[in-house]
Amino acid sequence: MDLANLPPTRKGRNYEIHAIGLREFAGLRKDDEKLNPFELAYYAKLLVASFEQIEPFLTQETKAHLLGTGKDKWSGGACSQALPDGRKLIVLNPTHTKNRQNATLMEEISHVFLGHKPSRLAIKKKNKDGEIIARDYNAIVEEQAYSIGAAALVPYSALKRFVEMGKTSREIAEHFEVSYQLVEYRIKVSRLWKTYLSIQGDGNRFSNKSA
Ligand SMILES: [Zn+2]
Repeated sequence: MDLANLPPTRKGRNYEIHAIGLREFAGLRKDDEKLNPFELAYYAKLLVASFEQIEPFLTQETKAHLLGTGKDKWSGGACSQALPDGRKLIVLNPTHTKNRQNATLMEEISHVFLGHKPSRLAIKKKNKDGEIIARDYNAIVEEQAYSIGAAALVPYSALKRFVEMGKTSREIAEHFEVSYQLVEYRIKVSRLWKTYLSIQGDGNRFSNKSA
């Protein structure tokens, strides 16, 4: 593996190697090829149900919450118990854009490939004030899964090249079908933010662009 094509941080390199493995598994050969998590979900034994499919099982109140007041508080949900055929049911927030759904689904796929136990969702303990908090283990696996999923969607080597070519985060986001926030997060964790800003100048170029 060419070390020049890996991020400068140890953590970043570790995540990148997993992400490259996932992309190879998905059959992608070039680092700038777009990864479609919906295709990969099949191999991760995830059954992605549309919200319409689960709607009949929800009460009006639940539905109103999930799509209304609570819509920004969840990105996706997975059933911790597998279906009889071994697949795991997952539902993505239908109010989120396709680009956000790609990142959510990719995180779920990473959990499967990293062998994270579904019970992670149930592991909770109380802190000294009696509030329910997720255990540290959760925070670690969540960070791993999200980071690797994001790296699989936006690989470091292609990202670096695009940044050096002067592409904006929105242009890169459009290319990989992810949110520009995810691209900027990738630029930052990959230690490319300084380069990005110096090439983009004072920031006028991207702040003038509409979403
Ligand atoms: Zn997760």
